[in-house]
Amino acid sequence: MGIVGLGLIGGSLGLELRSQRLRVLGVSRQEEVCEIALRRGIVDAASVNLALLRDADVIFVCTPLHAIAPIVEKLTPHLAPETIITDVGSVKAPVLREVMPLWPNFVAGHPMTGTAQQGVHAAQFGLFVNTPYVITPVAETPTAAMEAVEEIARSLGCQLYRCSPETHDRAVAWISHLPLFVSAALLDTCLGETDAAVLQLAQKFASSGFRDTSRVGGGNPVLGEAIAQYNREELLRSLYAYRHNLDQFIDTIEKQDWEHLKHRLQVTEAERSKFLDP
Ligand code: NAP
Repeated sequence: MGIVGLGLIGGSLGLELRSQRLRVLGVSRQEEVCEIALRRGIVDAASVNLALLRDADVIFVCTPLHAIAPIVEKLTPHLAPETIITDVGSVKAPVLREVMPLWPNFVAGHPMTGTAQQGVHAAQFGLFVNTPYVITPVAETPTAAMEAVEEIARSLGCQLYRCSPETHDRAVAWISHLPLFVSAALLDTCLGETDAAVLQLAQKFASSGFRDTSRVGGGNPVLGEAIAQYNREELLRSLYAYRHNLDQFIDTIEKQDWEHLKHRLQVTEAERSKFLDP
């Protein structure tokens, strides 16, 4: 198994695959990260040179979105044509457009898991258990390669899903990319409190509710920027809908229409479980 990018996702994947007694080869841009990954048991061998992966059967590219296609381009001279390349990027249609012409034996995937941490120190065992893993095939995706990646994902304890890249990007805009920007806006809005003493108290009072609602907005800014760039259209579509919805809440509260407000909150209370325990 090969992994490029030994951060949260790549590092966690290394820990899982090695626990299955698979030989894991890891590539980072930094010698220091290679040493840490070896020390932490994330990889069996590590290098800053992509040539290390020449004998891998399956290579997971676990870098930020903008780096996926350039890495595949640099990888290909080292690989035999049967090598399977897959990625874990959070947006699928643009990645497929960029990578498919470079390497036909490519399978686009997205493990729907994460924490607010980043880098090799964030890697953790068990990150993938009971989480969705979405494979987004296109007409050219080789079936054998897709099934091989799906088997690996299943071995991590993931629930497998298949859908088109466009459907994936629209669906994740609602449940992953919109929440990221809603959460970032929440943090930013709170920071707008002009009374320093009140702000300080609010920061001290913040507890589990604020931890839940601010977690994704307080994550890795590089990933957030990449998501906005790569899934711009779907993200904007969901943000406009959210802004409209927020305006409706404001309107209801301004009018003191408590019956209507209660009704809307009853709907959200009843429907939430469909997202979390479908
Ligand atoms: P991360 O912890 O920052 O790890 C990414 C790693 O990629 C970094 O540790 C870095 O390793 C390497 N890297 C960074 N920039 C690079 C570049 N320009 N060229 C080559 N390598 C580079 O991020 P992550 O959370 O694991 O995310 C990795 C991928 O998983 C992203 O595509 C993201 O969309 C996707 N994803 C993230 C989450 C999440 O919640 N975090 C969930 C699902 C999928 P070195 O510095 O050691 O080279």
